Amino acid sequence: MNVRDSEAVAAELAAAGHVQADDEESADLVVVNTCSVREKAEDKAVGKLGLLCKSKRERPGRIVGVMGCMAQRMAEELFNRVKGLDFAVGSRAALKIPEIVARIEAGSTRIWFPGELDGIDVPNGHTAPGISAFVTILLGCNRHCSYCIVPDVRGPEYSRPAREVVEEVRNLVKGGVREVTLLGQSVLRYGRQGKPVWDEEPAPGAKFTEPFPRLLEALSQIEGLRRIRFTSGHPSGCTEELARAFRDLAPVCPHLHLPVQSGSDRILREMRRGYTSGEYLEAIGRLREAVPDIAITTDIIVGYPGETEEDFEATRALMRAARYDNSFIFKYSPRPGTPAALLPDDVSPEEKDRRNKVLLADQDDLGVGNNSEWVGREVEVLAEGPSLRNKARWSGRTGQNKIAVFEPPQGIAVGDLVRLRVTRANPQTIFGDAMGQ
Ligand code: SF4
Repeated sequence: MNVRDSEAVAAELAAAGHVQADDEESADLVVVNTCSVREKAEDKAVGKLGLLCKSKRERPGRIVGVMGCMAQRMAEELFNRVKGLDFAVGSRAALKIPEIVARIEAGSTRIWFPGELDGIDVPNGHTAPGISAFVTILLGCNRHCSYCIVPDVRGPEYSRPAREVVEEVRNLVKGGVREVTLLGQSVLRYGRQGKPVWDEEPAPGAKFTEPFPRLLEALSQIEGLRRIRFTSGHPSGCTEELARAFRDLAPVCPHLHLPVQSGSDRILREMRRGYTSGEYLEAIGRLREAVPDIAITTDIIVGYPGETEEDFEATRALMRAARYDNSFIFKYSPRPGTPAALLPDDVSPEEKDRRNKVLLADQDDLGVGNNSEWVGREVEVLAEGPSLRNKARWSGRTGQNKIAVFEPPQGIAVGDLVRLRVTRANPQTIFGDAMGQ
């Protein structure tokens, strides 16, 4: 989401007459977009801002600003800790940056513009997006998981009108985009805030009646759009209709990022995640019944306050049952202002580290198994261009979001869909021979 917000700010700045610098060193204006989800990310951002502000000695007139969740959470502290910081804008006010930059250029200093946390100014501008683009469809989050600061810094949920989203995607496709990723903290909650996102009720007997599957259906009808992805999911949104959308709408990619966070029902309850491990596995089961090849990826936190060895083993068991294609494992760190931060952070750093390593190794084993199952089968890949490691070969992604590397067939162009026969695989990549486009 931060990548997307940064791009939207760059588009707004370009519209106001600014020109994208070639690199950070030559930039007259640098805006750091920040994340508050973990302590480590915040420490890195403070360090970066400090260096940038110091660089003003060599580059007088340079403007340094901060946006995103940290600005929202601790702007005042940032102004105190980072000498020379010119401005901070709140997480739903980033589109005001060109106006704020103009004020700084006119002589103002230390501007803090929090904006409204229930603001509905959705970033919708794009710079030259290539073949893939992110599209924000849902702002904020209403879930209030015990460890998470996001609802406090990104505000309550707001779903964009469907008409607006379809229009934005249509324009992107006209500009050459072939793949869109729809974004929301809990994206399957799209259109579930009480206010209709559709101008009209679904037609009698319509195949899709829930707001999000309806949106997928409408986007699938845009000619030239080859792939639709979305992130992140929650088990409560994995309905029969969503399963059917995965199965029946050709551009909808068979991949869902479905953060689980823990496999222990006790910890899930403490985390206020709103499901049990059984309900979570049922949700995956519903999707796999409709689309057996669907890839499921996840986020897991190790070392949540009070997490015992037994809880940890429950997470390992759930990982095996879910057969994840990929997992992102995080060591718990308390976020000030969250209910979990009031609990003793009682799993030692060494133990968090050990649990982290165990899960990474478990995931590697799962990855080898999952990827090797593709050997001998056919996959369709959206060609992205020459591979970074070996320019003679090309890479792309399968619908399951796996990286595929292949010898490019004659006349191939970025954005083509290429069929491959998979010849070998490792946990991260599959390799194949092109069979035609
Ligand atoms: S669903 Fe939970 S973890 Fe995700 S952003 Fe919302 S509160 Fe945070």
